[in-house]
Amino acid sequence: MVVLKTRAEIEKMEAANRIVAKVLAAMAAEVAPGVPTLRLDEIARGICGKEGVKPAFLGYRGFPFAVCVSVNDEVVHGFPSKRKLAEGDIVSMDFGVLAEGFYGDSAVTVPVGEVSAGTGRLLAATEEALAAGIAAAVPGNRLSDIGHAVQTVAEGAGFSVVRKFVGHGIGRELHEDPQIPNYGPPGKGLRLKEGMTLAIEPMVNAGGCDVRILEDGWTAVTSDGSLSAHFEHTVAILENGPRVLSAPVGSG
Ligand code: MG
Ligand code: MG
Repeated sequence: MVVLKTRAEIEKMEAANRIVAKVLAAMAAEVAPGVPTLRLDEIARGICGKEGVKPAFLGYRGFPFAVCVSVNDEVVHGFPSKRKLAEGDIVSMDFGVLAEGFYGDSAVTVPVGEVSAGTGRLLAATEEALAAGIAAAVPGNRLSDIGHAVQTVAEGAGFSVVRKFVGHGIGRELHEDPQIPNYGPPGKGLRLKEGMTLAIEPMVNAGGCDVRILEDGWTAVTSDGSLSAHFEHTVAILENGPRVLSAPVGSG
């Protein structure tokens, strides 16, 4: 069941997502060669403590960290660790909070130092694919128009879209209906309506779309070892179109 939100509820979700954006910006600012990825988890926990909010992923189905940190061929759900970031790596940070009864959820992938031109294109294409998916989140469109827009951009740039993981509704629960695949034909599924709040999150691989799960039971990696990027925003559908609730502060 898709739960529609009131304006007041969307404002609360925006407040939660503003903290998510703040944490992602603070972690991204810390990314550099030689930094252990566990440092990113410390930053997230520190800001959550100061803001008095709960990190959404910590303990979720037993997930042991506040942030999912996925490096290079890791797609999503990676564990922060003593592993040090290296020049030329890419690092995905996926983070959420629970604040005043509502969840926020957002992810970015950033380069560590200088990356190759091809790696830069993967990051840019994944971010553009997210923007295209968000632009399709307008009242009157169908759910699959979002995934179709994502897939068109990602595959148009020569990359592949992960099938195994999807975006989701979000609100008083971290994962609500509907599921939002990042692929598919246009014009299918439920009709998008004002008041829907969606976490749209393309995962795009430089190689094939297949993924496998490591023995830790969480970390998803590309089956062919190719790089993978992940960007996510929590979006509210308003009367006149999508509003990105997790937009970085100062970006309007
Ligand atoms: Mg997320
Ligand atoms: Mg999500």
